[in-house]
Amino acid sequence: MSKKFYLHEDRMPKSYYNILADLPVPLPPVLHPGTRQPVGPADLEPLFPMDLIMQEVSTERYIEIPERVREAYRIFRPSPLIRATGLEKALGTPAKIYYKYEGVSPTGSHKPNTAIPQAYYNALAGVKKLTTETGAGQWGSALSFAGAMFGLEVDVFMVRVSYEQKPYRKAMIETFGGSVTPSPSTRTKAGRKILAEDPDSPGSLGIAISEAVEAAVQSPDTKYSLGSVLNHVLMHQTIIGNEALLQFDDAGDYPEIVIGCTGGGSNFAGFIFPFLGERLRGGRSVRVIAVEPAACPSLTKGVYAYDFGDTVQLTPLVKMHTLGSSFIPPAIHSGGLRYHGMAPIVSHLKELNLLEARAEQQLDCFAAGVQFSRTEGIIPAPEATHAIKAAIDEALVCKETGESKVIAFNLCGHGYFDMQSYMNYFAGKIDNMDYPEELINKALVDIPAV
Ligand SMILES: *Cc1c(COP(=O)(O)O)cnc(C)c1O
Repeated sequence: MSKKFYLHEDRMPKSYYNILADLPVPLPPVLHPGTRQPVGPADLEPLFPMDLIMQEVSTERYIEIPERVREAYRIFRPSPLIRATGLEKALGTPAKIYYKYEGVSPTGSHKPNTAIPQAYYNALAGVKKLTTETGAGQWGSALSFAGAMFGLEVDVFMVRVSYEQKPYRKAMIETFGGSVTPSPSTRTKAGRKILAEDPDSPGSLGIAISEAVEAAVQSPDTKYSLGSVLNHVLMHQTIIGNEALLQFDDAGDYPEIVIGCTGGGSNFAGFIFPFLGERLRGGRSVRVIAVEPAACPSLTKGVYAYDFGDTVQLTPLVKMHTLGSSFIPPAIHSGGLRYHGMAPIVSHLKELNLLEARAEQQLDCFAAGVQFSRTEGIIPAPEATHAIKAAIDEALVCKETGESKVIAFNLCGHGYFDMQSYMNYFAGKIDNMDYPEELINKALVDIPAV
């Protein structure tokens, strides 16, 4: 039996999937931070080009992928769907484990799937420069790459701890032509405010978003770009699951359990929404599992409330699972999962009991990642090890029950720029983090009353 399922590029999906078309209950509206009334497309225009705003609010089921974007995707798409036979054997499980491998992209994760169309639509609208934030550097490098393809300048605010810990990601952003500022910085009012309160602030995604938003609204030919959370970002990522549906068809299988790790929710959504969509339209049933870090557990321990997407409270209010916009997550090694909130659509699905969420400790996740690398030959990004941990656990349940279930997870990125984390793991320098209850309770006080 073949182990890898490739799609010929001619069979690469021609459209994104928009789960808003199939939701049993509509998504709560986005609110203006001042008036607390639902925002209209015009309110978002200082930040995003109109094509992306229309995608953000669209309820069309399928949205066509422009030919220029498909052409750019062909550098690395379709990505392979791989049967993890080595891992299955090592676990002694009757379950079949598959993973969709997004590490084949130019920057090593799923992020270019949305960076490319975002750069394309901005360039089409005559935008010259994009500002953005980056945590571990994955998003900053993806947007810099996409900016280079479409002739846009890219100005990246990088969370200070990552800036210091991940010099290779910074070098990558600069190689693609982007520029990098450690955040908090003195370039913006938001950054200066944070630094005045804490000159040694390690930074956070929430702070970097405040800075990037402020920098974008200051100049007319500059817009802002976000790498996760928003509806249109999740929708661009559905190229992953749309491909996987075709590949499962080729494999003659269909997953009964689909799994993804969640930071802001985009790779998870991109992989699982096309499967969940089939279920919502009366197709085959599938169990959906979202896995987050125990140190930043927005889905499992956050409150479901209207909150800001950034720390300095410049963004619109969205209803989501949140730990509070002033919460600065502990400096765990999965930098991409350190975000206080969760995508509104993913949060909504959790409320509708259409997905299960669990939180995992980083030591257990690294152990799962090491086992995966030794059996499958790919060293996973620390973020991706959360999905691997859950896939292994489900496969071990099958071992006990004797069921040969089909389990699929998204391997959202490789870990070849994260080897310092693996070195720390092997040196015994990685600890589990307790749930930072006190910090979260403090941050929850700042959630606005809506
Ligand atoms: C950015 C990133 C994440 C977290 O973002 P999501 O929007 O939740 O996908 C997870 N894994 C990797 C490898 C990333 O680069």
